[in-house]
Amino acid sequence: MTSTFDVLNPRTGAVYATVDNHTSDDWMAALSEADQHGSAWAALSPRTRSVILSEIFLELTERTEEIADIIHAESGKPIAEAQGEVAYGAEYFRWFAEEAVRLPGRFGQAPSGGGHIAVTRIPVGPVLAITPWNFPIAMAARKIAPALAAGCPVIVKPASETPMTMVKVVQIIHEVFARHDIPAGVVSIITTTHDAELSAELMADPRLAKITFTGSTNVGRILVRQSADRLLRTSMELGGNAAFVVDQHADLNQVVAGAIAAKLRNAGQVCIAANRFIVHESRATEFVELLAKAMQATDIGPVISARQRDRIAQLVDAAVTEGADLVIGGTVPEGEGFYYPATILTNIPAEARILHEEIFGPVATITTFTELADGVALANSTEFGLAAYGFSTDTDAAHYLATNLRAGMVGINRGAISDPAAPFGGIGQSGFGREGGTEGIEEYLAVKYIALP
Ligand code: NAD
Repeated sequence: MTSTFDVLNPRTGAVYATVDNHTSDDWMAALSEADQHGSAWAALSPRTRSVILSEIFLELTERTEEIADIIHAESGKPIAEAQGEVAYGAEYFRWFAEEAVRLPGRFGQAPSGGGHIAVTRIPVGPVLAITPWNFPIAMAARKIAPALAAGCPVIVKPASETPMTMVKVVQIIHEVFARHDIPAGVVSIITTTHDAELSAELMADPRLAKITFTGSTNVGRILVRQSADRLLRTSMELGGNAAFVVDQHADLNQVVAGAIAAKLRNAGQVCIAANRFIVHESRATEFVELLAKAMQATDIGPVISARQRDRIAQLVDAAVTEGADLVIGGTVPEGEGFYYPATILTNIPAEARILHEEIFGPVATITTFTELADGVALANSTEFGLAAYGFSTDTDAAHYLATNLRAGMVGINRGAISDPAAPFGGIGQSGFGREGGTEGIEEYLAVKYIALP
Protein backbone atom coordinates (compact mmCIF):
# COMPACT_ATOMS: atom_id res chain seq x y z
CA MET A 1 0.00 0.00 0.00
CA THR A 2 1.25 3.51 -0.83
CA SER A 3 2.06 5.47 2.29
CA THR A 4 0.64 8.96 2.77
CA PHE A 5 1.22 12.09 4.81
CA ASP A 6 -1.13 14.66 6.31
CA VAL A 7 -1.39 18.31 5.40
CA LEU A 8 -2.62 20.56 8.24
CA ASN A 9 -4.82 23.65 8.16
CA PRO A 10 -2.78 26.25 10.09
CA ARG A 11 -5.97 28.08 11.12
CA THR A 12 -7.14 25.11 13.16
CA GLY A 13 -4.25 22.69 13.36
CA ALA A 14 -6.59 19.97 12.01
CA VAL A 15 -5.82 17.67 9.07
CA TYR A 16 -6.91 19.31 5.80
CA ALA A 17 -5.79 16.64 3.34
CA THR A 18 -3.87 13.41 3.04
CA VAL A 19 -1.60 12.87 0.06
CA ASP A 20 0.62 10.13 -1.37
CA ASN A 21 4.10 10.06 0.08
CA HIS A 22 6.06 9.32 -3.08
CA THR A 23 9.26 7.34 -2.98
CA SER A 24 12.23 6.61 -5.21
CA ASP A 25 10.28 4.60 -7.81
CA ASP A 26 7.92 7.54 -8.33
CA TRP A 27 10.56 10.22 -8.85
CA MET A 28 12.75 7.99 -11.00
CA ALA A 29 9.66 7.25 -13.15
CA ALA A 30 9.02 11.02 -13.39
CA LEU A 31 12.61 11.55 -14.55
CA SER A 32 12.25 8.80 -17.17
CA GLU A 33 9.09 10.49 -18.47
CA ALA A 34 10.80 13.88 -18.56
CA ASP A 35 13.74 12.38 -20.39
CA GLN A 36 11.53 10.50 -22.83
CA HIS A 37 9.23 13.41 -23.74
CA GLY A 38 11.59 16.35 -23.24
CA SER A 39 13.00 16.47 -26.75
CA ALA A 40 9.54 16.40 -28.37
CA TRP A 41 8.52 19.32 -26.15
CA ALA A 42 11.70 21.19 -27.09
CA ALA A 43 11.06 20.47 -30.76
CA LEU A 44 7.65 22.19 -30.74
CA SER A 45 7.69 25.61 -32.31
CA PRO A 46 8.12 28.48 -29.85
CA ARG A 47 4.68 29.70 -30.97
CA THR A 48 3.07 26.38 -30.03
CA ARG A 49 4.72 26.41 -26.60
CA SER A 50 3.59 30.01 -26.22
CA VAL A 51 -0.04 29.15 -27.05
CA ILE A 52 -0.03 26.29 -24.51
CA LEU A 53 1.40 28.56 -21.80
CA SER A 54 -1.27 31.18 -22.60
CA GLU A 55 -3.97 28.56 -22.21
CA ILE A 56 -2.54 27.55 -18.84
CA PHE A 57 -2.65 31.23 -17.82
CA LEU A 58 -6.31 31.49 -18.86
CA GLU A 59 -7.28 28.26 -17.16
CA LEU A 60 -5.56 29.19 -13.88
CA THR A 61 -7.18 32.62 -13.99
CA GLU A 62 -10.62 31.17 -14.62
CA ARG A 63 -10.19 28.76 -11.72
CA THR A 64 -8.77 31.33 -9.30
CA GLU A 65 -11.30 30.64 -6.56
CA GLU A 66 -10.86 26.89 -6.63
CA ILE A 67 -7.06 27.23 -6.36
CA ALA A 68 -7.19 30.07 -3.82
CA ASP A 69 -9.39 27.98 -1.53
CA ILE A 70 -6.70 25.31 -1.43
CA ILE A 71 -3.94 27.87 -0.75
CA HIS A 72 -6.08 29.38 2.02
CA ALA A 73 -6.70 25.97 3.58
CA GLU A 74 -3.16 24.61 3.53
CA SER A 75 -1.11 27.79 4.07
CA GLY A 76 -3.60 29.71 6.23
CA LYS A 77 -3.18 32.99 4.34
CA PRO A 78 -6.31 35.17 4.13
CA ILE A 79 -8.50 34.38 1.13
CA ALA A 80 -7.91 37.77 -0.54
CA GLU A 81 -4.15 37.18 -0.36
CA ALA A 82 -4.60 33.66 -1.70
CA GLN A 83 -6.55 35.02 -4.69
CA GLY A 84 -3.85 37.64 -5.21
CA GLU A 85 -1.26 34.87 -5.22
CA VAL A 86 -3.14 32.92 -7.91
CA ALA A 87 -3.26 36.03 -10.10
CA TYR A 88 0.45 36.61 -9.52
CA GLY A 89 1.38 32.96 -10.15
CA ALA A 90 -0.79 32.72 -13.29
CA GLU A 91 0.84 35.88 -14.63
CA TYR A 92 4.18 34.05 -14.92
CA PHE A 93 2.56 31.77 -17.49
CA ARG A 94 1.34 34.77 -19.48
CA TRP A 95 4.67 36.56 -19.20
CA PHE A 96 6.69 33.51 -20.32
CA ALA A 97 4.17 32.74 -23.08
CA GLU A 98 5.28 36.14 -24.39
CA GLU A 99 8.97 35.42 -23.80
CA ALA A 100 8.86 31.98 -25.46
CA VAL A 101 8.67 33.61 -28.88
CA ARG A 102 11.46 36.11 -28.21
CA LEU A 103 14.44 33.94 -27.31
CA PRO A 104 17.60 35.98 -27.81
CA GLY A 105 20.25 35.33 -30.45
CA ARG A 106 22.70 37.26 -32.64
CA PHE A 107 24.57 36.99 -35.88
CA GLY A 108 27.51 38.96 -37.18
CA GLN A 109 30.81 38.96 -38.99
CA ALA A 110 33.88 37.98 -36.97
CA PRO A 111 36.16 41.01 -36.36
CA SER A 112 38.98 39.23 -38.20
CA GLY A 113 36.78 38.97 -41.28
CA GLY A 114 37.44 35.24 -41.26
CA GLY A 115 33.89 33.98 -40.86
CA HIS A 116 30.62 34.63 -39.07
CA ILE A 117 29.42 34.15 -35.53
CA ALA A 118 25.91 32.91 -34.84
CA VAL A 119 24.75 32.72 -31.23
CA THR A 120 21.60 30.88 -30.32
CA ARG A 121 20.03 29.27 -27.24
CA ILE A 122 19.11 25.65 -26.54
CA PRO A 123 17.02 24.28 -23.66
CA VAL A 124 19.16 22.80 -20.87
CA GLY A 125 16.96 19.69 -20.49
CA PRO A 126 15.03 18.10 -17.59
CA VAL A 127 14.63 20.41 -14.59
CA LEU A 128 14.00 19.61 -10.92
CA ALA A 129 12.10 22.43 -9.17
CA ILE A 130 11.96 22.39 -5.35
CA THR A 131 9.72 24.99 -3.73
CA PRO A 132 8.83 26.32 -0.25
CA TRP A 133 5.48 26.55 1.52
CA ASN A 134 5.04 30.33 1.72
CA PHE A 135 3.69 30.85 -1.83
CA PRO A 136 2.41 27.44 -2.94
CA ILE A 137 1.57 28.45 -6.53
CA ALA A 138 3.76 31.46 -7.23
CA MET A 139 7.12 29.93 -6.28
CA ALA A 140 6.51 26.95 -8.58
CA ALA A 141 4.96 29.00 -11.42
CA ARG A 142 8.12 31.11 -11.58
CA LYS A 143 10.07 27.96 -12.39
CA ILE A 144 7.64 25.87 -14.45
CA ALA A 145 6.59 28.67 -16.82
CA PRO A 146 10.10 29.74 -17.95
CA ALA A 147 11.30 26.13 -18.10
CA LEU A 148 8.41 25.19 -20.41
CA ALA A 149 8.87 28.35 -22.46
CA ALA A 150 12.55 27.47 -22.94
CA GLY A 151 11.68 23.91 -23.97
CA CYS A 152 12.51 21.99 -20.78
CA PRO A 153 10.41 19.32 -19.03
CA VAL A 154 9.95 19.81 -15.27
CA ILE A 155 9.61 17.71 -12.13
CA VAL A 156 8.20 19.84 -9.31
CA LYS A 157 8.57 18.96 -5.63
CA PRO A 158 6.37 21.27 -3.53
CA ALA A 159 6.91 21.72 0.22
CA SER A 160 5.23 18.97 2.22
CA GLU A 161 3.35 21.61 4.27
CA THR A 162 1.49 22.88 1.14
CA PRO A 163 1.50 20.28 -1.65
CA MET A 164 -2.21 20.32 -2.54
CA THR A 165 -2.10 23.61 -4.47
CA MET A 166 0.44 22.22 -6.93
CA VAL A 167 -1.42 18.92 -7.16
CA LYS A 168 -4.36 20.98 -8.49
CA VAL A 169 -2.21 23.24 -10.69
CA VAL A 170 -0.39 20.31 -12.30
CA GLN A 171 -3.77 18.65 -12.93
CA ILE A 172 -4.85 21.85 -14.74
CA ILE A 173 -1.59 21.91 -16.74
CA HIS A 174 -2.25 18.27 -17.75
CA GLU A 175 -5.78 19.17 -18.89
CA VAL A 176 -4.34 21.84 -21.17
CA PHE A 177 -1.61 19.44 -22.38
CA ALA A 178 -4.28 16.83 -23.24
CA ARG A 179 -5.98 19.27 -25.65
CA HIS A 180 -2.71 19.46 -27.56
CA ASP A 181 -1.70 15.80 -27.25
CA ILE A 182 1.25 16.71 -25.05
CA PRO A 183 2.27 13.84 -22.74
CA ALA A 184 1.58 14.51 -19.06
CA GLY A 185 5.18 13.56 -18.22
CA VAL A 186 6.44 16.91 -19.53
CA VAL A 187 5.41 18.26 -16.09
CA SER A 188 5.35 15.87 -13.12
CA ILE A 189 4.68 16.49 -9.47
CA ILE A 190 6.21 14.52 -6.62
CA THR A 191 4.63 14.91 -3.19
CA THR A 192 6.97 13.53 -0.56
CA THR A 193 8.48 13.98 2.85
CA HIS A 194 11.66 12.21 1.65
CA ASP A 195 13.12 15.43 0.24
CA ALA A 196 16.82 14.76 0.89
CA GLU A 197 16.61 11.30 -0.69
CA LEU A 198 14.79 12.74 -3.71
CA SER A 199 17.36 15.45 -4.38
CA ALA A 200 20.30 13.09 -3.82
CA GLU A 201 18.97 10.46 -6.25
CA LEU A 202 17.69 12.77 -8.97
CA MET A 203 20.75 15.01 -8.89
CA ALA A 204 23.06 12.00 -9.24
CA ASP A 205 21.27 10.87 -12.40
CA PRO A 206 22.89 12.07 -15.63
CA ARG A 207 19.49 12.65 -17.23
CA LEU A 208 18.76 15.58 -14.91
CA ALA A 209 20.14 18.85 -16.33
CA LYS A 210 19.22 21.49 -13.81
CA ILE A 211 17.98 22.15 -10.29
CA THR A 212 16.09 25.30 -9.39
CA PHE A 213 15.44 25.82 -5.70
CA THR A 214 13.57 28.32 -3.57
CA GLY A 215 13.93 27.92 0.17
CA SER A 216 16.28 28.45 3.05
CA THR A 217 19.95 29.32 2.64
CA ASN A 218 20.99 26.21 4.59
CA VAL A 219 19.19 23.80 2.26
CA GLY A 220 20.44 25.84 -0.73
CA ARG A 221 24.02 25.22 0.39
CA ILE A 222 23.38 21.47 0.65
CA LEU A 223 21.95 21.40 -2.87
CA VAL A 224 24.80 23.42 -4.36
CA ARG A 225 27.28 21.01 -2.76
CA GLN A 226 25.33 18.09 -4.20
CA SER A 227 25.30 19.70 -7.63
CA ALA A 228 29.10 19.81 -7.82
CA ASP A 229 29.73 16.18 -8.74
CA ARG A 230 27.73 16.46 -11.93
CA LEU A 231 28.29 20.21 -12.48
CA LEU A 232 24.52 20.62 -12.62
CA ARG A 233 23.12 23.99 -13.56
CA THR A 234 21.63 25.57 -10.40
CA SER A 235 19.43 28.55 -9.51
CA MET A 236 19.11 29.43 -5.83
CA GLU A 237 16.41 31.75 -4.47
CA LEU A 238 17.30 31.77 -0.76
CA GLY A 239 16.62 33.60 2.46
CA GLY A 240 16.66 37.34 3.08
CA ASN A 241 17.01 39.91 5.85
CA ALA A 242 15.53 42.95 4.16
CA ALA A 243 16.17 46.43 5.54
CA PHE A 244 13.55 49.16 5.24
CA VAL A 245 15.21 52.55 5.53
CA VAL A 246 13.13 55.63 6.33
CA ASP A 247 14.89 58.93 5.59
CA GLN A 248 14.09 62.09 7.53
CA HIS A 249 12.26 63.47 4.46
CA ALA A 250 9.92 60.52 4.03
CA ASP A 251 6.14 60.84 3.73
CA LEU A 252 5.05 58.74 6.71
CA ASN A 253 1.65 57.83 5.27
CA GLN A 254 3.38 56.41 2.23
CA VAL A 255 5.97 54.75 4.47
CA VAL A 256 3.38 53.04 6.66
CA ALA A 257 1.41 51.76 3.65
CA GLY A 258 4.70 50.40 2.27
CA ALA A 259 5.65 48.96 5.65
CA ILE A 260 2.39 47.03 5.95
CA ALA A 261 2.85 45.61 2.44
CA ALA A 262 6.49 44.73 3.09
CA LYS A 263 5.94 43.35 6.58
CA LEU A 264 2.52 41.76 6.89
CA ARG A 265 1.83 40.04 3.59
CA ASN A 266 1.49 36.33 4.37
CA ALA A 267 1.94 37.11 8.09
CA GLY A 268 5.51 38.20 7.35
CA GLN A 269 6.46 34.81 5.88
CA VAL A 270 7.97 36.30 2.76
CA CYS A 271 11.60 36.11 1.68
CA ILE A 272 11.54 39.84 0.83
CA ALA A 273 9.65 40.79 4.02
CA ALA A 274 11.03 43.86 5.78
CA ASN A 275 12.97 42.41 8.68
CA ARG A 276 14.66 45.55 9.96
CA PHE A 277 13.08 49.00 9.97
CA ILE A 278 15.92 51.53 10.11
CA VAL A 279 14.42 54.96 10.75
CA HIS A 280 15.82 58.49 10.99
CA GLU A 281 15.80 59.38 14.69
CA SER A 282 13.62 62.48 14.12
CA ARG A 283 10.77 60.36 12.67
CA ALA A 284 11.00 57.21 14.79
CA THR A 285 8.42 58.02 17.50
CA GLU A 286 5.75 59.06 15.00
CA PHE A 287 6.54 56.13 12.71
CA VAL A 288 6.25 53.58 15.53
CA GLU A 289 2.87 55.03 16.59
CA LEU A 290 1.47 54.94 13.05
CA LEU A 291 2.91 51.51 12.34
CA ALA A 292 1.46 50.06 15.55
CA LYS A 293 -2.01 51.33 14.64
CA ALA A 294 -1.80 50.04 11.09
CA MET A 295 -0.44 46.63 12.12
CA GLN A 296 -3.20 46.17 14.67
CA ALA A 297 -5.81 47.05 12.05
CA THR A 298 -4.52 44.46 9.54
CA ASP A 299 -6.03 40.99 9.10
CA ILE A 300 -3.09 38.68 9.80
CA GLY A 301 -3.42 34.96 9.15
CA PRO A 302 -1.68 32.22 11.11
CA VAL A 303 1.92 31.21 10.47
CA ILE A 304 2.50 27.87 8.80
CA SER A 305 3.14 25.59 11.78
CA ALA A 306 3.50 25.36 15.54
CA ARG A 307 7.24 24.98 15.00
CA GLN A 308 7.48 28.27 13.07
CA ARG A 309 5.31 30.07 15.65
CA ASP A 310 7.53 28.85 18.48
CA ARG A 311 10.68 29.87 16.58
CA ILE A 312 9.31 33.43 16.15
CA ALA A 313 8.32 33.57 19.83
CA GLN A 314 11.82 32.51 20.86
CA LEU A 315 13.43 35.22 18.71
CA VAL A 316 11.19 37.89 20.27
CA ASP A 317 11.57 36.58 23.84
CA ALA A 318 15.36 36.46 23.50
CA ALA A 319 15.47 40.06 22.24
CA VAL A 320 13.29 41.21 25.16
CA THR A 321 15.49 39.34 27.66
CA GLU A 322 18.50 41.11 26.15
CA GLY A 323 16.87 44.50 26.76
CA ALA A 324 14.59 45.27 23.78
CA ASP A 325 11.28 47.09 24.42
CA LEU A 326 8.03 45.52 23.35
CA VAL A 327 5.66 48.14 21.89
CA ILE A 328 2.83 45.81 20.86
CA GLY A 329 2.29 42.04 20.68
CA GLY A 330 4.82 39.49 21.84
CA THR A 331 2.46 36.94 23.40
CA VAL A 332 1.27 33.75 21.70
CA PRO A 333 -2.55 33.80 21.87
CA GLU A 334 -4.59 31.01 23.44
CA GLY A 335 -6.84 28.90 21.23
CA GLU A 336 -6.54 26.77 18.14
CA GLY A 337 -4.35 27.47 15.12
CA PHE A 338 -0.78 28.67 14.75
CA TYR A 339 -1.16 32.41 15.37
CA TYR A 340 1.42 34.99 16.38
CA PRO A 341 0.32 38.59 16.94
CA ALA A 342 1.53 41.78 15.24
CA THR A 343 4.60 42.73 17.26
CA ILE A 344 6.94 45.75 17.36
CA LEU A 345 10.31 45.86 19.11
CA THR A 346 12.42 48.97 19.75
CA ASN A 347 15.76 49.62 21.49
CA ILE A 348 17.10 46.27 20.35
CA PRO A 349 20.72 45.46 21.24
CA ALA A 350 22.80 45.39 18.02
CA GLU A 351 23.86 41.79 18.55
CA ALA A 352 20.34 40.39 19.18
CA ARG A 353 19.64 37.38 16.93
CA ILE A 354 16.41 38.92 15.69
CA LEU A 355 18.37 41.57 13.77
CA HIS A 356 20.54 38.99 12.01
CA GLU A 357 18.14 36.15 11.21
CA GLU A 358 15.15 36.00 8.94
CA ILE A 359 12.11 36.51 11.25
CA PHE A 360 9.47 35.10 8.89
CA GLY A 361 6.65 36.38 11.08
CA PRO A 362 4.60 39.54 11.80
CA VAL A 363 7.33 41.15 13.91
CA ALA A 364 8.81 44.58 13.13
CA THR A 365 12.17 45.59 14.61
CA ILE A 366 12.98 49.30 14.77
CA THR A 367 16.43 50.84 14.97
CA THR A 368 17.40 54.46 14.34
CA PHE A 369 20.14 56.48 12.65
CA THR A 370 21.26 60.11 12.48
CA GLU A 371 23.12 60.29 9.14
CA LEU A 372 21.63 58.57 6.09
CA ALA A 373 25.01 57.02 5.23
CA ASP A 374 25.04 55.32 8.64
CA GLY A 375 21.48 54.06 8.12
CA VAL A 376 22.47 52.57 4.78
CA ALA A 377 25.62 51.03 6.30
CA LEU A 378 23.42 49.40 8.95
CA ALA A 379 21.03 48.18 6.25
CA ASN A 380 23.94 46.64 4.36
CA SER A 381 25.47 44.96 7.43
CA THR A 382 24.04 41.54 6.58
CA GLU A 383 25.34 38.54 4.68
CA PHE A 384 21.98 38.39 2.85
CA GLY A 385 21.13 40.55 -0.14
CA LEU A 386 17.69 39.76 -1.48
CA ALA A 387 15.60 42.92 -1.12
CA ALA A 388 15.86 46.35 0.52
CA TYR A 389 13.51 49.30 0.72
CA GLY A 390 14.23 53.02 0.89
CA PHE A 391 11.77 55.83 1.54
CA SER A 392 12.38 59.54 0.98
CA THR A 393 10.63 62.38 -0.80
CA ASP A 394 14.01 64.09 -1.28
CA THR A 395 15.37 63.25 -4.75
CA ASP A 396 19.02 63.14 -3.73
CA ALA A 397 18.30 60.92 -0.74
CA ALA A 398 16.09 58.59 -2.82
CA HIS A 399 18.85 58.35 -5.40
CA TYR A 400 21.40 57.67 -2.67
CA LEU A 401 19.22 54.86 -1.29
CA ALA A 402 18.62 53.32 -4.73
CA THR A 403 22.33 53.35 -5.49
CA ASN A 404 23.77 52.30 -2.16
CA LEU A 405 21.37 49.75 -0.70
CA ARG A 406 23.10 46.43 -1.42
CA ALA A 407 20.55 43.87 -2.63
CA GLY A 408 19.33 42.14 -5.77
CA MET A 409 16.10 44.18 -5.54
CA VAL A 410 15.54 47.66 -4.13
CA GLY A 411 12.12 49.27 -3.69
CA ILE A 412 12.06 53.09 -3.64
CA ASN A 413 8.96 54.53 -1.95
CA ARG A 414 7.31 51.17 -2.57
CA GLY A 415 6.77 48.25 -0.20
CA ALA A 416 5.42 45.82 -2.80
CA ILE A 417 7.99 45.12 -5.50
CA SER A 418 7.24 41.66 -6.95
CA ASP A 419 6.45 41.73 -10.66
CA PRO A 420 6.58 38.84 -13.15
CA ALA A 421 8.11 41.25 -15.66
CA ALA A 422 11.03 42.08 -13.33
CA PRO A 423 14.03 39.90 -12.38
CA PHE A 424 13.53 38.51 -8.87
CA GLY A 425 16.62 37.28 -7.05
CA GLY A 426 19.41 38.04 -4.63
CA ILE A 427 23.12 38.46 -4.08
CA GLY A 428 25.40 37.14 -1.34
CA GLN A 429 23.83 34.48 0.88
CA SER A 430 20.43 35.11 -0.75
CA GLY A 431 21.59 33.04 -3.71
CA PHE A 432 21.95 33.48 -7.45
CA GLY A 433 19.87 33.27 -10.58
CA ARG A 434 16.81 35.34 -11.46
CA GLU A 435 13.12 34.51 -11.84
CA GLY A 436 10.81 36.56 -14.04
CA GLY A 437 11.73 39.40 -16.37
CA THR A 438 13.59 38.80 -19.59
CA GLU A 439 16.35 37.35 -17.41
CA GLY A 440 14.27 34.49 -15.96
CA ILE A 441 14.25 32.32 -19.06
CA GLU A 442 18.05 32.38 -19.36
CA GLU A 443 18.24 30.04 -16.35
CA TYR A 444 16.76 27.30 -18.55
CA LEU A 445 18.81 27.96 -21.68
CA ALA A 446 22.36 27.20 -22.70
CA VAL A 447 24.25 29.46 -25.09
CA LYS A 448 25.29 27.80 -28.35
CA TYR A 449 27.78 29.41 -30.73
CA ILE A 450 27.81 28.29 -34.32
CA ALA A 451 30.91 29.22 -36.33
CA LEU A 452 30.02 29.87 -39.96
CA PRO A 453 32.14 30.64 -43.00
P1 NAD B 1 13.24 24.95 3.34
O1 NAD B 1 14.61 25.25 2.81
O2 NAD B 1 13.14 24.27 4.64
O3 NAD B 1 12.43 24.04 2.32
C1 NAD B 1 12.24 24.41 0.97
C2 NAD B 1 12.00 23.17 0.16
O4 NAD B 1 13.17 22.37 0.18
C3 NAD B 1 10.86 22.29 0.65
O5 NAD B 1 10.20 21.76 -0.47
C4 NAD B 1 11.61 21.19 1.39
O6 NAD B 1 10.88 19.97 1.42
C5 NAD B 1 12.85 21.04 0.53
N1 NAD B 1 14.02 20.45 1.18
C6 NAD B 1 14.44 20.57 2.46
N2 NAD B 1 15.61 19.89 2.61
C7 NAD B 1 15.92 19.34 1.42
C8 NAD B 1 17.01 18.55 0.92
N3 NAD B 1 18.02 18.17 1.70
N4 NAD B 1 16.98 18.18 -0.37
C9 NAD B 1 15.97 18.56 -1.18
N5 NAD B 1 14.95 19.30 -0.78
C10 NAD B 1 14.93 19.70 0.50
O7 NAD B 1 12.47 26.34 3.31
P2 NAD B 1 10.98 26.64 3.77
O8 NAD B 1 10.97 26.68 5.25
O9 NAD B 1 10.01 25.77 3.06
O10 NAD B 1 10.80 28.12 3.17
C11 NAD B 1 11.21 29.25 3.81
C12 NAD B 1 12.53 29.74 3.24
O11 NAD B 1 12.40 29.97 1.83
C13 NAD B 1 12.94 31.07 3.81
O12 NAD B 1 14.31 31.06 4.10
C14 NAD B 1 12.65 32.06 2.68
O13 NAD B 1 13.39 33.22 2.69
C15 NAD B 1 12.96 31.24 1.49
N6 NAD B 1 12.30 31.82 0.31
C16 NAD B 1 13.07 32.44 -0.61
C17 NAD B 1 12.49 33.02 -1.74
C18 NAD B 1 13.31 33.69 -2.78
O14 NAD B 1 12.78 33.91 -3.86
N7 NAD B 1 14.55 34.03 -2.53
C19 NAD B 1 11.10 32.96 -1.90
C20 NAD B 1 10.33 32.32 -0.93
C21 NAD B 1 10.96 31.73 0.18
